Amino acid sequence: RGISRFTTFASIEKPINPSVKIEHNQLLIDGKFVDAASGKTFPTLDPRTGNVIAQVAEGDAEDINRAVSAARKAFDEGPWPRMTPYIHGLTLPADGSYHVQTLHEPVGVAGQIIPWNFPLVMYGWKIGPALACANTVVLKTAEQTPLSALYVTSLLYEAGLPPGVLNVVSGFGASAGAPLCSHMDVDKIAFTGSTETGQRILEMAAKSNLKSVTLELGGKSPFIVCEDADIDQAAELAHFALFFNQGQCCCAGSRTLVHERVYDEFVEKAKACASKRVVGDPFQKGVQQGPQIDEKQFQKILKYIRSGVESGATLEIGGDRCGSKGYYIQPTIFSNVKDNMLIAQDEIFGPVQTILKYKDLDEVVRRANATQYGLAAGVFTQNLATANFLSRALRVGSVWINCYDVFDAAIPFGGYKMSGQGREKGIYSLSNYLQIKAVVTPLKNPAWL
Ligand code: NAD
Repeated sequence: RGISRFTTFASIEKPINPSVKIEHNQLLIDGKFVDAASGKTFPTLDPRTGNVIAQVAEGDAEDINRAVSAARKAFDEGPWPRMTPYIHGLTLPADGSYHVQTLHEPVGVAGQIIPWNFPLVMYGWKIGPALACANTVVLKTAEQTPLSALYVTSLLYEAGLPPGVLNVVSGFGASAGAPLCSHMDVDKIAFTGSTETGQRILEMAAKSNLKSVTLELGGKSPFIVCEDADIDQAAELAHFALFFNQGQCCCAGSRTLVHERVYDEFVEKAKACASKRVVGDPFQKGVQQGPQIDEKQFQKILKYIRSGVESGATLEIGGDRCGSKGYYIQPTIFSNVKDNMLIAQDEIFGPVQTILKYKDLDEVVRRANATQYGLAAGVFTQNLATANFLSRALRVGSVWINCYDVFDAAIPFGGYKMSGQGREKGIYSLSNYLQIKAVVTPLKNPAWL
């Protein structure tokens, strides 16, 4: 039940009791749980109700300093970078009288800032390559979702991680994230979140110590339904591409572009998918869509829905909140959407599908690429030549053909244009966390014995 024929993402099979004990709500610095230097705490809220789940230590610049010192010490003096690594490097052709090899070495202390939409996935994508490449880390979690990283990091320490290798600071962007980005002893920043914050982070890195930066930012990804597509299948996959995780997905297929010959049929089928979507408490069996993360995102999405109506798009289904408590929004679909409408341009980050009409492949490529973003795209077709043409013409970091949101750990993920820089996951992610050293040795030289 709830399992799409294209994906393995599904609603839960059995109800879960979410009233678990919160074991860790302090900062994790140098392998120990500690209060914030200021003694301050902030509440973390349950989006189903708006009620407080727990109070969490609120880190600021002083705590970032403590965490960076611990990470620096662990890097400069601790066992982590000195364990026996696999060194991958190259032997390079050079002037015939020299032997040239490259050594791949860790960058040093990595600062990592993650968002709230996939708190544990983002944590894994960030710490995995950084630690595998022998760096040490200070991770700042999103203020909406501080708990899971604290708990999982406690397990890593239980498993024997040396002190200071991974430090977790909960707190807000301006008071904890910004000091991490400006810190002179941080060698690298990796960030996932909004494009605006990504731009600020690049500025802070440039104005401090020119630390290297990788960014995974926003998107407005096209999902292209070709005229030859099986429309039942296309509607189902386009639905998943947008509504997965309540639409809170940087690579959500948020512009559904449908060929004019199949447009009307597609809109009807998309509506049927949305009308069947089960919205409610995500801990209950069979529920497919839970609440948005918080009041701010909830209000932002409702504002975009109003803007869609005011700009003349056709509201096919949904368009309002669900119930009177928590941050639930009805699965919403707009048809007759035009490229110049805000709902077709901005990242809504919610359960709002916008369906646009196109005439031919050249036109759809031009319109799909006419955005500041370039994160991902979906293509639905039975024709291999069409799939090959579109996958090469689209200026995006991922193209999913007859599938969507396939996130195997080996597949690189990242954006073109203002969707970011660098790639996460797999072999490509390692280069974000490595320096390259050239070692040059003369083959024959009087200095040799
Ligand atoms: P945000 O970019 O402000 O927050 C993401 C992370 O950056 C959080 O940990 C936050 O504390 C931190 N941060 C914020 N300001 C900072 C600063 N000045 N210096 C350093 N770190 C800072 O995003 P948001 O306000 O949570 O959401 C706004 C919009 O961003 C969403 O509506 C959505 O469109 C987009 N978003 C994208 C992603 C993504 O996966 N690409 C994730 C979350 C949000």
